[in-house]
Amino acid sequence: MNTGRDDNFGYLSKKCPECLTYIPLAADICPSCKQRVGKVTRTGMAKRPVNWNSYFMLILAVAAFSFYIWWAFVKD
Ligand SMILES: [Zn+2]
Repeated sequence: MNTGRDDNFGYLSKKCPECLTYIPLAADICPSCKQRVGKVTRTGMAKRPVNWNSYFMLILAVAAFSFYIWWAFVKD
């Protein structure tokens, strides 16, 4: 099957980056582990979508740590 696009690298399925199960190319969510997955990459793995929640938690942690440093050492 040739879709005329070359972004599947010839793969017919992709591998979930979380549980390493083969899943359909069109799947947005892994049927096995229910994690969101992206498009297939050159290696046949599905892209791991950016997890904005963990970015947000990281920023929050850095902000809290910075505040602690300010509170503990700089405030006076
Ligand atoms: Zn999975």
